[in-house]
Amino acid sequence: MKKQLIFLGGPGSGKGTQAKKMVRDLGCKHVSTGDLLREEVKKGSALGRKVDQILKEGHLVSDDVVFELLKANCDVKTGTYIFDGFPRNINQAKELDRELLDGCESIVFYFDCPHDVLVQRLTSRRICGKCGAIYNIITGPPPSSGICSQCKDGKIEHRKDDQEETILERLKVFKETTGPVVKYYEERGNLVRIDASVGDEETHNMVVRHL
Ligand code: AMP
Repeated sequence: MKKQLIFLGGPGSGKGTQAKKMVRDLGCKHVSTGDLLREEVKKGSALGRKVDQILKEGHLVSDDVVFELLKANCDVKTGTYIFDGFPRNINQAKELDRELLDGCESIVFYFDCPHDVLVQRLTSRRICGKCGAIYNIITGPPPSSGICSQCKDGKIEHRKDDQEETILERLKVFKETTGPVVKYYEERGNLVRIDASVGDEETHNMVVRHL
């Protein structure tokens, strides 16, 4: 079975952007629990209605819900997956090993980025509601038409949880719950720290060098 990749990092550290580059350059498969949850909200499914408020507040959805969604959307036997936004706590890290990786080797990349850079990136982040392309109103603004230049169809949106108050809560939750996950993998010896405060391409090159 192919090696699996786990992307850890605070909100705004560039996990999603980096995952897209890996899909583009190396043909990896990308699974983002945040994207899967937002899709459910958008569809208005029972699950989406259940998690909508939790996402708006920047809190974590229950492990069971996230894990079921993840399990239904990836199969490590079919290639190299990038797990983006999962695991978020120690319980999820153990579940991932036990239930999904099933002995398959993994490398964990931790996208390390100072708090103030994360806040700045999140407040200026915009996304395409259709294809998920990521823009930044300061460093890489979307077209003035408000329509995505990549899929040429989706509307550019400001994520509800990218508002300042929720951002601070998400960063707090990240520090408290995902911080120990970083330590967990560090102790196991399969964690690579990447300086994610630099440009996207530079960060991507650092990741590729470690593969
Ligand atoms: P993200 O797109 O990774 O920043 O995730 C957006 C939101 O989805 C988070 O603030 C959580 O509410 C929820 N979420 C995403 N991944 C997980 C996870 N692994 N466990 C619990 N909640 C999650």
